Amino acid sequence: MRELNVKEITAAVKKSAMDANYELGEDMLHAFEHGLAHEESPAGQEVFRLLLENARIARQQMIPICQDCGLAVIFVELGQDVHLVGGDLNEAIQAGVREGYEEGFLRKSMCHPLTRKNTGDNTPAVIYTTIVPGDKVRLMVVPKGGGSENMSRVHMLRPAAGLAGIKEKIVETMREAGANVCPPAIVGIGIGGTFEQAALLAKKALLREVGTKNPDPELAALEDEFLTLVNNLGIGPAGLGGRFTALAVHVNMMPCHIASLPLAVNTQCHASRHKEVIL
Ligand code: SF4
Repeated sequence: MRELNVKEITAAVKKSAMDANYELGEDMLHAFEHGLAHEESPAGQEVFRLLLENARIARQQMIPICQDCGLAVIFVELGQDVHLVGGDLNEAIQAGVREGYEEGFLRKSMCHPLTRKNTGDNTPAVIYTTIVPGDKVRLMVVPKGGGSENMSRVHMLRPAAGLAGIKEKIVETMREAGANVCPPAIVGIGIGGTFEQAALLAKKALLREVGTKNPDPELAALEDEFLTLVNNLGIGPAGLGGRFTALAVHVNMMPCHIASLPLAVNTQCHASRHKEVIL
């Protein structure tokens, strides 16, 4: 069995938290360029210009893309043939977040929900661990902005609501979200599972590379249809009006109970940040 010291996990999380906050992915930059070329509204075009300029400055000067450096969400895929040594996995991840946010001069946004007292180091991170085959550890570090997370919704629909009900709720959620989601958005949709699994499906949908098609042709067609519906709202970049309320809609789906039709809409702002490391 392969041994891995958790110190390596701390170091990887620390670096990824900083890199994710400084370097927007190439997929997002391409999506901004596509938006700039195809947006009809002059104000929307200007927003795309500013987003590209902002991303360039952040990368070159190693400063955060946004003042909201996010709640640290960490997805861990732990190979079942890895033996972790040197400490506790969860504590190693929390240490990586703590060190990355401190050393990287990233805003600490975590607080007590009632007193609103800041925890001071952006912990606790929200960690999801899955055991997978193999002898590797895959980490996905996702700083998630508060504004876009606030506008996300879970809807427990009646099965009879069907696809029409799903479309209605997606459009309703995005209409209510308006400019608060910091558009142009990525919309993660989770259909099926349970109340919490639908939300997790939606969050994982946000991690897919923007500009890629769903491998399932039926879901790919649904994503196109949902994107058109969302963009027909006309909210536009930064809520100033235009075609690009969203850059992409990504759907994950799984079976559900015969009495249920769970739907989750996890909205992601234009600061769509995530870094992947395989150890
Ligand atoms: S929602 Fe996103 S773009 Fe808006 S302030 Fe938060 S991190 Fe920044």
